[in-house]
Order: sequence, then C-alpha cells, then structure tokens
Amino acid sequence: MAETKKIAVIAGDGIGPEVVAEAEKVLRKIEDVFGYSFETEHALFGGIAIDEKGTPLPDETLDVCKRADAVLLGAVGGPKWDNNPKELRPETGLLGIRKALGLFSNLRPAVVFDCLKDASTLKPEVLEGTDLMVVRELTGGIYFGEKFRRETEQGQEAVDTCAYNVTEVERIARQAFEIALKRRKKLASVDKANVLETSRLWRETVIRVSADYPEVELEHVLVDNCAMQLLRRPSSFDVIVTENMFGDILSDEAAMLTGSIGMLASASLGEGSYGLYEPVHGSAPDIAGQGLANPIATILSSALMLRLTFGYEDAADAIERAVAEVLDAGHRTSDIAAGRAEALSTGQMGDLILNAIRK
Ligand code: NAD
Repeated sequence: MAETKKIAVIAGDGIGPEVVAEAEKVLRKIEDVFGYSFETEHALFGGIAIDEKGTPLPDETLDVCKRADAVLLGAVGGPKWDNNPKELRPETGLLGIRKALGLFSNLRPAVVFDCLKDASTLKPEVLEGTDLMVVRELTGGIYFGEKFRRETEQGQEAVDTCAYNVTEVERIARQAFEIALKRRKKLASVDKANVLETSRLWRETVIRVSADYPEVELEHVLVDNCAMQLLRRPSSFDVIVTENMFGDILSDEAAMLTGSIGMLASASLGEGSYGLYEPVHGSAPDIAGQGLANPIATILSSALMLRLTFGYEDAADAIERAVAEVLDAGHRTSDIAAGRAEALSTGQMGDLILNAIRK
C-alpha cells in the first residue's frame, strides 16, 4: 500500500459541493484500481463559512489546509453574500487562502477534446490537437505594486507600479520548465521585452534558467503576438509561462478555445509539491442544487493534483483517459449537450467517468 496522502477538501458554495463530491468518488476509485491511499479532511470555506463561522476563511480551515499535502476546492460565492462588506465576502477568502498557503503560480490547462471541437467559436481544423498549459505568476507584478493618485497640471493622475525581482521570476520559470519536461518539452515565455524593463529582467532570467533545462525548447513571444498566435495556431503551444497580468488575460483567452467553462481545471502551486486544485468556474448559483453541474472540471483538477503534487502520473492519465472515453461515447451534461434531450446529471456523469477508470 502506498503512503497515505492527505487532501483538504473545501467544497464551498453553490455547485461546489456537488462537483467536489464527484471528484472524491473518482479519488476513491483510484485507490481501488491503483492501490494509492488518500485521507480527506473537510472544512468550511466561502459563503457557508461566513454563515456558520462569521468569516470566509476560518483559522481551522487554514489549519486543515496546512496539515494536508494538497487542497481540493469547489467554488465560492453567491447572491446571498454579494452585498456584504469586503471582509465578509467569499472572494476575499480566495485571495486570503492563496496568500496564506504561499501559492505563487496558477496553472490552467486548455485541452480541446476532439468530440467537443464544435463547442468552440474557432474552426475545428484550427483547434485540432490543442493541448496547452498557461503558467501564470500569481503574486507579483502590477496587481501588487504600489498604487496611488496624485494631482498634476493635467488633473488627477493614477499610478500602478509593476515590479518583479529575480527570485520571483526564477522560481516561476523553474516551475514552468519542470512542467514542460513532463509534457512535450516546449516552453513559450511571454513578455513585452521590447518596451518594459520588468519584461527585460524576465527574459534574461528565463534564458539563464533555461541552461539547466537543455531538453526543453524555449521560445520568447511578445504578449500581443501571443494573443494572436493563440487564435491562429493554438496547437503549436505546449507550456506558456508569463507574468501576472499577461497571464490573467491570456489564460482566459486560452480557456475559451475549449468551449465550455464546465470542463476547465486549474492548479495553484507554491514551493515544493504543495498545491491547491479547483475548477476555473464559479459557484453557478443559477443551477446549484439541481444536479445539472458538469463535474468534469473538478474531476480533471483532481487528476492535476495526482500528477503535480503526488507524482501519480498513471492515475492522472487514467482519469483523463476516462473523461475522453466518456465524452467520445457521446455522454454529455446539459452545458455541453448542445440542446440534446438526454443530458446527464452531475452524479451520472461522475459515475460514468469512474466506471471508465482502469489501469
Ligand atoms: P460561474 O462560473 O459560476 O457561472 C457562469 C455560467 O456558467 C453560469 O451560467 C453557470 O451556470 C455556468 N457554469 C459554471 N460552471 C458550470 C458547470 N460546472 N457546469 C455547468 N454550467 C456551469 O460564474 P458567475 O455566474 O460569474 O459567478 C457566480 C458566483 O461564483 C459569484 O459569486 C462569483 O463571485 C463566484 N466565482 C467564484 C469563483 C471561485 O470560487 N474560484 C470563480 C468565479 C466566480
């Protein structure tokens, strides 16, 4: 029996508990099939934590996360808490947990499943074979730089500063090279080095780090060009690494290649193998409690956890293969059913996927 891995499960609000339950079922199946062992501990987070504990991120939830090897998160938020003051908003808990756990990168894979090519707004032949990962720096850059306003002769002026130090760039570059090593060994580093000093430091640092990864083919792409190439030749990208704001924009653009928000997984990583894994979508209050949510984004997030935190490549592959097989067989939840009458419930989709898992 393999060493028991501890997973903190924070399901959150809306469809969060529904989709997380399916990912947990899949993890139990992975234990049976592969002999791995997971211990899950549940904790309150988001709106439900505000209601029960008076704060979106209770200390005991943070303790549960810190005791664990990885965190599986559903989604937080909903109309009930939308008008709360900032410190009592579920989203404040999201920023707080990333900071408290030292998560400095966000990974978003964008995989186009052949059978869902028609769900995208791009032509199927452009999307063919698209399987990329955006690695975004999460704790530096213009979002966190000094911000202020001042009076000038032309009226009020607002200033946002963008700063990066070598350590911040180096750690995300290393992470991206490591990820590329486990994939198709291609890395595109995206910057604006023709204009920005932070980008010039970024590029110099990435080049220096690349000496330790001679197997990885490195290209530098200016951010405006990358935005175009993502639409023109998405399948030519493997791993894209970039700073915070560029990554924010490019990861949303890349997400749209796949057609459905219910399919998109993500990971946030810190030093070492620790990570927080969650679907890209929110709590979808419009469909919560009806068994309509697509659990695939969360199930694929758990596959990312197995691969990136635990190194269980075989089990991660098995989950991804099972998802592809179920979709290829024509099974759909309503968000990807394109009006077909026989859309599956959240639980039915989860069951089909876990039954398709094999070595
Ligand atoms: P959303 O992602 O929750 O929903 C957008 C649309 O996509 C809705 O029509 C929803 O029904 C649909 N959808 C989302 N996930 C789906 C799934 N798995 N299966 C089928 N359909 C799905 O975004 P929103 O409506 O803008 O936000 C709702 C709440 O979620 C807000 O309170 C927002 O702040 C919060 N939110 C949380 C996170 C997070 O927890 N990380 C992220 C985004 C939004």
